[in-house]
Order: sequence, then C-alpha cells, then structure tokens
Amino acid sequence: MSIPVVTTIELQSLPKLTSGKVRDLYEIDDKTLLFVTTDRISAYDVIMANGVPQKGAILTQLTAHWFKVLGERIPGLKTHFISLTPPPSVSDEDKALIRGRSMQVRRLKVFPIEAIVRGYITGSAWNEYQKTGTVHGIPQPAGLQQCSPFPKPLYTPSTKAELGEHDENISPEKAAEIVGEKYAARIEELALKVYTTAAEYAREHGIIIADTKFEFGLDEETDDIVLIDEVLTPDSSRFWPASEYEVGRDQDSFDKQFLRNWLTKEGLKAKDGVEMPQEIAEATSARYKEAFKLLTGKTLEEALGEL
Ligand code: ATP
Ligand code: MG
Repeated sequence: MSIPVVTTIELQSLPKLTSGKVRDLYEIDDKTLLFVTTDRISAYDVIMANGVPQKGAILTQLTAHWFKVLGERIPGLKTHFISLTPPPSVSDEDKALIRGRSMQVRRLKVFPIEAIVRGYITGSAWNEYQKTGTVHGIPQPAGLQQCSPFPKPLYTPSTKAELGEHDENISPEKAAEIVGEKYAARIEELALKVYTTAAEYAREHGIIIADTKFEFGLDEETDDIVLIDEVLTPDSSRFWPASEYEVGRDQDSFDKQFLRNWLTKEGLKAKDGVEMPQEIAEATSARYKEAFKLLTGKTLEEALGEL
C-alpha cells in the first residue's frame, strides 16, 4: 500500500493557529502546541504544488532524535519537545492524518531571528568570500577553498522573513538590537554549542553538517532560552556525505539539491505553483531517508513502528 503524500491537513479536533511553509501549528492549550509537519517542500522560498513522500514524518522523527542526542550531550539544554504522541483530545480520525508527523511542543515566544551557524564555506558564504574575502562581512583567512572548513564555526544570523519575503543577513550587533543585548550573546553561544555538538555526532555517523539554522524561544517564567522548531534536518541544514567529501568543489548534498537543479534547468526557479515530476519528488524522499538512516541508525519504517 502506498502512503499518501499530504500537503494540506485540516484537523477537526484542534484550532489551527498558523501555517508556515512546511508546518501547521495547532493549539492544544495556552502553553502547548501541536507541531504538524506536512510533506510540503519549499525551494528558493517558494512552496511546490506537490509534496515529497514521507517528508513530514522524516523531519519530525529526525528532530525528535536530535533533541534526545543533544539532551544527552549538552547538560542543561532546554528544548520545546514534549512528546511524539498527540494529546487525548485529538480524535482517532485526526490521529490517522498526522501519524508520525506531529509533536507536542511548548508554546513559546519566538526570537525573530534565524540563528545560522556555518562550519564550512559554501553557498552564499562562498560567493561572498570570492568577491571580498569576507563572510557575512567578517574577514576570513586567505586561501580558503570551496567547501573548506572555517578555522572555527561562524555565527551568521539573519532576520526571519514573513511568508513570501526573503531572509536578510544581519550583523551580530543588529541581531542584538532585535532580540535585546541580554539574550543575543546567549543565543549565539548556544547556537555554536549545539552546532558543534551535532557536527561531532553527525561526523561519527558519516555526515558533515556544513551549515544549519536554529530558532530559539524564550521561557518567560524562567528566562531560559529554549531550542525550538525543527533541528538539524535536511531542510534546515546542508548535509554532505563524509565519504565523498573533497575540498575545492561543490558537494553532493542530502538536501534539496535534486529539486534546485531541476528548477534551475527548467527555468522555474522561484516561480509559484510549480509541480515537480514524480521522479524528482521520489529522489528527494530517498535522499532524506538516507540521511535519516545514517543519523539515527534506523530506517524511517523502524522509527515509525516504535511509536
Ligand atoms: P522555513 O522553515 O522554511 O523558514 P517557516 O519559517 O515558514 O519556513 P515552518 O517550519 O513551516 O516555518 O513553521 C514553523 C513555525 O513555527 C515557524 O514560524 C517557527 O518560528 C514556529 N515555531 C517553532 N517552534 C515554536 C514554538 N515552540 N512555539 C511557537 N512557535 C514555534
Ligand atoms: Mg521553519
């Protein structure tokens, strides 16, 4: 039996608060959300008309795995994770729609910045470096090659754009203006710590995390900074197979590269409502599953069987 690809979900049991590019957020109570990940995929900030098979489950189960690993390796780390099981108020019919793709999370005030950490020079950072010798305006040593590691991981925050807008790079000083001095340094420190810890774990499992994006929330009762959202998935990160890694060239990544290459080839980059051919959707799903297996040591089916 083939599993349906789900791009829109309308649960009957809970009120929907918002929809992002990939996720729908439902209200459980004042302090708790049901975080539902669909199979939607965005590339160049535009959502495709059709979805990627099992993507929502892959991202949800991988994020839960990371929360467990990070919790073990970073004493005192706070995350928004509560449970992979929906609350009893969700009907059986709704439970079937969100199987494997939902997470109960703590509802928090979101800091409106994207905490990006880069361990390796690629993408827009590589383009900037070739022109100016800087990344995010920060001077870098001469002689870095494409995809070289940075001497140490770089924190390069950006704004969190509204749907349809583009994120904008900002300096750490501007980030401090947005989130407040008091929290900016703690967010930077935590983002670097989580990246470094995850990069080490991933390397033990055959994956290089070239860069990634975190979001953080504030627990207003304790004043703690909390790791929220999805973490360290192929949507929020560039994952490279360690066995094929070589400096001086582009890497074959585990993320949306198939889709981006196809969009570029067809001249459909950043166009609305594009439908991917089935083979592109399937190839993307297969890549996401491969990364899942390497990082968790389980197939997605095994992980879902344990729920
Ligand atoms: P993209 O991830 O591509 O930038 P997006 O930001 O629109 O797209 P989605 O991943 O589709 O995001 O939706 C998740 C939304 O939920 C984000 O706006 C994120 O800030 C928010 N969010 C994540 N965790 C929490 C939380 N614990 N409490 C409140 N909001 C949260
Ligand atoms: Mg998101």
